[in-house]
Amino acid sequence: MQYLIIGAGPAGVNAAEQLRKLDDGAAIRIVGDEPEAPYSRMAIPYLLMGNIDEQGTHLRDRSDHFAAHGIDVSQGRVARVDPAAHQVVLENGEKLGYDRLLIATGSSPARPPIPGMDSDHVASCWTLADARAIQSRAASGSRVALIGAGFIGSIILEALAQRGVALSVIEQGQRMVPRMMGPKAGGLLQRWCESKGVGVSTGVAVEAVDTDGVRLADGSLVPADLVITATGVRPNVAFLDGSGVSIDQGVLIDRQFRTNVQDVYAAGDVAQGLDFCTGDYAVHAIQPTASDHGHLAAVNMSGRNAQYEGSVNMNVLDTLGLLSCSFGRWEGVDGGDQAELYAPDDYRYLSLQFQDDRLIGANAVGLYQHVGVLRGLIQRRAPLGIWKQRLMRDPTRLVEAYLSTTQVI
Ligand SMILES: Cc1cc2nc3c(=O)[nH]c(=O)nc-3n(C[C@H](O)[C@H](O)[C@H](O)COP(=O)(O)OP(=O)(O)OC[C@H]3O[C@@H](n4cnc5c(N)ncnc54)[C@H](O)[C@@H]3O)c2cc1C
Repeated sequence: MQYLIIGAGPAGVNAAEQLRKLDDGAAIRIVGDEPEAPYSRMAIPYLLMGNIDEQGTHLRDRSDHFAAHGIDVSQGRVARVDPAAHQVVLENGEKLGYDRLLIATGSSPARPPIPGMDSDHVASCWTLADARAIQSRAASGSRVALIGAGFIGSIILEALAQRGVALSVIEQGQRMVPRMMGPKAGGLLQRWCESKGVGVSTGVAVEAVDTDGVRLADGSLVPADLVITATGVRPNVAFLDGSGVSIDQGVLIDRQFRTNVQDVYAAGDVAQGLDFCTGDYAVHAIQPTASDHGHLAAVNMSGRNAQYEGSVNMNVLDTLGLLSCSFGRWEGVDGGDQAELYAPDDYRYLSLQFQDDRLIGANAVGLYQHVGVLRGLIQRRAPLGIWKQRLMRDPTRLVEAYLSTTQVI
């Protein structure tokens, strides 16, 4: 059996390793377009903060790891997929055959169509190459404007602030992390950042970028030597044109990671997979989902049948020392119940969303001990019984609720 994987990120690497475990004699090849050893984008902020070096971003420590597992990793950019011939064609014209193909090409930053966005002093923070450019340009004391305070923007914010730059953040939504948290939690995050010397403008659009900085729709200027954009991502699917593979927000897959095209599977940021909490198919663009996808796609590619239960959409942020997180259906559902704790002076917030007596979503700020428990309660779909009313009265009793409903005590 010949397995070919396009993309050497967490989804592709997990899939390759799982395939090796399940199919001893198979030929397994990963082709990815970045020059470095397979690495984790999640580690880039730690590189920018100086906590690790580039080696520390690699997904596997040893340089001979893949060879030792009989996994061939090569650099190349796939230009097209020809399912009828069971071949992919690289940009250099080389053709690679496959029996089963995994598309694990991830996503790329989307830049809004704003004048000046293609200037030299506008950068993304997505690849190791981007990180090197930022390392050389975002020196302590330089003025940096960050456009976008979503999940990725807020992760980058932390790394930039730690570099000692004069940082300003601009978010078009009414609050920070608007697709991850409600107004109270987002407001706490903003106030926290401001208290740490980071300028934050919310509810205002960027009109243009020029050599002085970022011009906002309200007429103000955010002065900047370097502008970093974090304004969403798009799945890398252009090479699938003409392949017949169906695409919506990402590559459409079923519960076994199969696309509509025979022997072609997809996983990770590029794939629109099952969401555990909503039952819909969505692009999560987070690493835990990519890793789950890679693992289970491989099980199915190997000929076994593993029905995917879906992944919980979740985001965890450490913003200049303030931990926050969102899980699942944090906005709640029609007919559901909500419990809330709001202690703005202490930068603490917790909201729990229930459907019947199950926890289906949550937002938390400044409550370190609850992250694992929240995920556990949502993922296990544990009926809370009497604990629902107790949590409605005091949502901080989560650990007790978890222990009681898992019958550990
Ligand atoms: C700065 C930063 C911080 C992050 N922090 C977190 C975090 O804290 N938590 C979290 O959950 N997620 C985080 N993420 C998101 C996380 O990194 C992604 O969800 C994850 O990398 C997705 O894995 P993947 O394997 O699907 O795609 P990727 O890691 O993007 O890998 C896909 C690979 O395929 C390559 N490729 C694309 N097209 C082609 C082609 N035509 N031919 C060959 N190769 C191709 C790409 O260049 C890339 O190397 C972060 C992302 C960034 C940028």
